[in-house]
Amino acid sequence: MKHTQVVVVGADPVGLVTALGLAKAGLDVLVVDTGREASACAPCVHDWSVLPGLDRLGVLEDATQAGFTDPSWCLRVLQTGEHLTFDLGVLAGLTPHPYNLHVEDTALCEVLERHLARHRTKPIERNARLVDLAQDQSGVEIVLETGDGVRRLRTDWVVAADGTSSMVRRLLGLGFRGSTWHDRSVVALVDADFAGRDYAGTTLQVDDRYGAVVHKVDDRRWRYTFDESLTLPEESVGARIPGVLRKVLGSVPFHVLDWHSSRMHQRTSDQYRAGRVLLVGDSAHVANRMIGHSPITAFFDAYRLIEALSAVAGGYADERVLDKYSEGRKRVFLDHALPASAGRKHLISQISDRRQLETELEHYRLASADPEALRELLLFNRELEGDSPLPRGTSSVSVFS
Ligand SMILES: Cc1cc2nc3c(=O)[nH]c(=O)nc-3n(C[C@H](O)[C@H](O)[C@H](O)COP(=O)(O)OP(=O)(O)OC[C@H]3O[C@@H](n4cnc5c(N)ncnc54)[C@H](O)[C@@H]3O)c2cc1C
Repeated sequence: MKHTQVVVVGADPVGLVTALGLAKAGLDVLVVDTGREASACAPCVHDWSVLPGLDRLGVLEDATQAGFTDPSWCLRVLQTGEHLTFDLGVLAGLTPHPYNLHVEDTALCEVLERHLARHRTKPIERNARLVDLAQDQSGVEIVLETGDGVRRLRTDWVVAADGTSSMVRRLLGLGFRGSTWHDRSVVALVDADFAGRDYAGTTLQVDDRYGAVVHKVDDRRWRYTFDESLTLPEESVGARIPGVLRKVLGSVPFHVLDWHSSRMHQRTSDQYRAGRVLLVGDSAHVANRMIGHSPITAFFDAYRLIEALSAVAGGYADERVLDKYSEGRKRVFLDHALPASAGRKHLISQISDRRQLETELEHYRLASADPEALRELLLFNRELEGDSPLPRGTSSVSVFS
């Protein structure tokens, strides 16, 4: 049976970021993935707050070249006709990267994979599904189903970055408590001139019927995310999308290139550590998809886990820091990410009462007119970073310590 120090299950950006950080700390890492085809509808905007982490991993420059940066976002309020604009440039001096990074998932994964290959790692196994695991005091035995049959591996640690339906979490018997929204999330990839209709690179469109989040993918393509009731038939989602777009684009021609729909949950795993297995990203927690607090929190999970696991594996800290990782990240999710995501979804698509809308908008009107108020609004995302799991003064080999 082959042995490796860390197996990361899941090769989406969060799994790859974790693998790269651990590899940079000198750990021997193997990434396995089912080889699921990447969706063109996957998130393409990475919040300014996670960019310093990508920089420390040494991938920000390449990731930026694979996409573009954009400091603008706006709030379009259909009921009032308002168009509140915001410029992340107000964060200059507080962060070296006062903008969002727009890069498609596949392009970001390619960059991360290229950097990972420069380290003492095994090549990513793309057609390997984890189907079982068992652990003892000294390690974890995992079972992979591959194109060539079933294979067993022994590893010191497992990182589960295997998404909402995480097989690892289920094998560990961890609960995934919370609730499921009565809405369906729909993402449409659209070829249309949204810029000509004054949409910014990131636009929150506020309306109780046509609320949406719109992201620029490139000069031609835009990602349009909206919710609809689960009572509407799933088989006709695609047929309804043009009607939704027509309402906001009017006579502007458009072409729907692709779309994706999914149920939405707000759930957290009971814990993010079970012995030698650590959970990151959607395997640990999910919020609604209307606004991206889940992806931001997922990147910060990865950064914090890199710190903790590199320190433990390198002998700089004892295993208690992994419990601190688990407790700290769950707190961040429950105290910050979850309420913020629910609040944004409420603002974007759930307020029909005009007076309530006016109250909710006050905050944003102020922020669009006052740089100090805008800074305060934006800096919330740093709360999602949470505290380091390492005791102060711990030396470590991690890029995050
Ligand atoms: C099409 C699409 C649209 C999305 N839209 C939004 C959005 O608008 N807003 C938002 O907040 N979030 C959205 N998300 C979710 C967002 O991408 C995630 O929150 C974020 O990327 C963190 O994901 P993750 O890496 O933890 O899990 P995932 O991105 O789900 O990655 C899990 C990986 O694990 C692999 N895997 C799963 N099971 C196994 C197994 N048993 N063995 C080996 N490998 C396995 C999968 O192949 C996959 O590559 C979207 C996701 C998709 C796919």
